[in-house]
Amino acid sequence: MPCLPMFSPKSSENVNTKDDYEVQTWNPLRLLVLRLGLTELAMTSPLNYGKYAPDDIFACAYCGAPLFAANAKYDSGSGWPSFWRSFEETSVSYKREWDNRLECRCRRCSSHLGHVFMDGPRPETVSADVLQKSPVTDPRSGAYLPRFCINGAALIHRPAPKEEVNDKS
Ligand SMILES: [Zn+2]
Repeated sequence: MPCLPMFSPKSSENVNTKDDYEVQTWNPLRLLVLRLGLTELAMTSPLNYGKYAPDDIFACAYCGAPLFAANAKYDSGSGWPSFWRSFEETSVSYKREWDNRLECRCRRCSSHLGHVFMDGPRPETVSADVLQKSPVTDPRSGAYLPRFCINGAALIHRPAPKEEVNDKS
């Protein structure tokens, strides 16, 4: 029987064995996107329409690694959840595809996330604070920030941990 073109997690040096993943998923859409590199239909992800606190995290739906923060999420009008920076230098990896698009994968488990284009927001339109801490590994060119065009199915929303309120006065 011919093998499906599954991505091999072992092809990435940053990945340990499958047993080390915190999260795995048996959701069919998630697996098609994450492991086979398919693209979900535009405008279908609930992540396009949710309201999120700035410190909320969007993590890899396969291994749970944090990939993006809500403070870099913006409405690109593309129909896919969009971010103008990655979470940190070790979050995502890149691969140039045959059609010259830049593929973006989870660096930890090498799952497919989406693509990066150099037509994101202009730097002066985003939070200077958040911009300053952008990973140096993010792709850069020209006057625009990158647009991480990500399948919502590849992400899990994690609310920011609530601070303990000490209300015993
Ligand atoms: Zn992952």
